[in-house]
Amino acid sequence: MAKHKLSQLPKMDRLLAREELAGCGLPYSLVRRAARQTLEEARQGLLAGSRDRAPTEEEAAARTLALAQALSRPGLVRVINTTGVPLHTNLGRSPLSPRAAQAVQEAAAGYCSLEYDLASGRRGSRTGRVEELLRDLTGAEGACVVNNNAAAVLLMLSVLTPGLGVAISRGELVEIGGSFRVPDIMARSGARLVEVGATNKTRLSDYAAALDSGAAQALLKVHPSNFRVVGFTQAAELPQLGELARQKDVPLLCDLGSGALSAGRFPGEPTVEEAVRWADVTCFSGDKLLGGPQAGILLGRAEPMARLKSDPLVRALRPDKLTLAALEATLMDWRDGTLPPAAAMLGADGDALRRKAEELVQRLGSLCPCEVAESPGEAGGGSMPGISLPGWAAALTPAEELERFFRGWETPIIGRIHKGRLLLDVRTLLPGDEDVIAAALSRWKEEEP
Ligand SMILES: *Cc1c(COP(=O)(O)O)cnc(C)c1O
Repeated sequence: MAKHKLSQLPKMDRLLAREELAGCGLPYSLVRRAARQTLEEARQGLLAGSRDRAPTEEEAAARTLALAQALSRPGLVRVINTTGVPLHTNLGRSPLSPRAAQAVQEAAAGYCSLEYDLASGRRGSRTGRVEELLRDLTGAEGACVVNNNAAAVLLMLSVLTPGLGVAISRGELVEIGGSFRVPDIMARSGARLVEVGATNKTRLSDYAAALDSGAAQALLKVHPSNFRVVGFTQAAELPQLGELARQKDVPLLCDLGSGALSAGRFPGEPTVEEAVRWADVTCFSGDKLLGGPQAGILLGRAEPMARLKSDPLVRALRPDKLTLAALEATLMDWRDGTLPPAAAMLGADGDALRRKAEELVQRLGSLCPCEVAESPGEAGGGSMPGISLPGWAAALTPAEELERFFRGWETPIIGRIHKGRLLLDVRTLLPGDEDVIAAALSRWKEEEP
């Protein structure tokens, strides 16, 4: 039965030879891939019984063309974030500031002074300016930039603590996401994990005991990121650990996760300045609370930083010119008192957000059922865990249909469905986004049956 129907599937060579496909102007390899996928879908449909006949050649050609056109478009496109989560890892974490985006554009399209010193006309330092800005902003003696914070943690442990016992609280043996687990990265670095304390409570005396017994020769503090222990808890904070490390003459390393500069005033986050003050080396991401490009930033005292920077691993993990252009511009924003977009979104005032949501509702109200709704948000990206941000949204119906339509729009609009309504949270809107949303919804109303 199914076998008979399978034999009626269009033949690949005849399908590809049809005028709609042969003359469509798309690359042959792409059309062929789309045709294979079309025939495979039909075959699976017949076998599973979800389809009762093979598609005609004409139907298969139409499906192939649609698939090929979809495949010809880029997979990485700009989207509008209306989730209210400023550091949404799936949506690219922090958007760059206008100054940083401009710097990337200029460095990308032409040549640039990446390793060229314009004053002397000689070879220059690739990361000199960025490191200078980092030192000035944080008070660190040394700085180094790599591709992301996972790389920074690996570098820090590989160079500074290979073969050493490193004491870490059981409450900080976390998985950050994307299979980055602190115990695994420690094993890979050659450091020996020495667990201290309990999941919910670790006292300073637990660390001291690990050092005194000879089990550990270094201390590591890790920001628990997207996870928070609540209730009956205790942890040793950076200043206490810093004092202990000095007293015992061992290094204190810190994976801070988010780079919260004190000027951003992020509730509940330890600041970079504080970590730099107490830890020998601190590392964090460039695209979380710092609001810049994906990068791993290491800061610390002169001696361990010099050891880090002379290690060959630094060359293997070095960032490209676009990252450095964006990072330099982001740090200049902080220096000049301009908050990058994600930091500004996180600090947005509740009343201002409510007014913005009211304006959006006014604008969309004639196009679909729409009202203002409260929409509690979070920072995302493992930053400010457990802190709920007061948010406001335009709540639209019908939720499912609109969600699908917006997701398929030429600039996809990503919202979230809550209790039967599609919430468009205004916290994460960038200038001009409202126009795109209004245009999309007008089209939806036109097309509505
Ligand atoms: C996010 C995070 C990382 C990973 O940083 P990436 O820049 O994504 O590589 C590592 N450690 C902590 C504590 C984090 O929060």
